[in-house]
Amino acid sequence: MAHSRHFAEPKLVGTLLCLDFANTVSWRGKDDPQEHLKGYVGLLHWSRRLGILDDTEYGTLSREAERSPGKAEEVRGRAVALREAIYGVLSAVIDGRELEVEDLNALNEELSETLKNTRIVPSEEGFSQEFTTGTSLDRLLWPIAKSASDLLLSDRLDRVRRCAADECRWLFLDTSRNRSRRWCDMRDCGNRMKARRHYNRKRGTGQKTGMR
Ligand SMILES: [Zn+2]
Repeated sequence: MAHSRHFAEPKLVGTLLCLDFANTVSWRGKDDPQEHLKGYVGLLHWSRRLGILDDTEYGTLSREAERSPGKAEEVRGRAVALREAIYGVLSAVIDGRELEVEDLNALNEELSETLKNTRIVPSEEGFSQEFTTGTSLDRLLWPIAKSASDLLLSDRLDRVRRCAADECRWLFLDTSRNRSRRWCDMRDCGNRMKARRHYNRKRGTGQKTGMR
């Protein structure tokens, strides 16, 4: 079966930064999920792809990471922890179950770092928020933590969904009018699950595919 999108450059289906970041693991429901944040280099690559860093910032942080590989690896660890915290909190919301305190704590820790590095500055229309500049290796985590907290405080929270394909479980924002989107991508998981359902129906095995 061709799952090429999940390899080198998986599709971006989340709509929001924090959701696309939560999806930097493919096939969460399989025995061997695929990790895309491989090393700080992988994190940098994704940060540029998701628009967190421009080319100049990418270059600056690449050089900085070469100078401090230990610190870079530590930031990658924090990135993975932040990602899992975001995924955990949103999954609990989707399932309507109690939050894991550890997930919320991990998110709040990064949020506190983010606020430490946030400034209010004058702008044409009054004021705006921006992050401090510099070569701090963890600066790419700030927009992600902010995106997650913005989502949790917004009325779009009840539009967050998890792909109904059990092996996929990517998160996305359902912007459909009747709020009925079930798949991260109709042409991908949607088609695959439909084909499987059809096949099982023909074999008379009914709903054993994990379909909801
Ligand atoms: Zn999917």
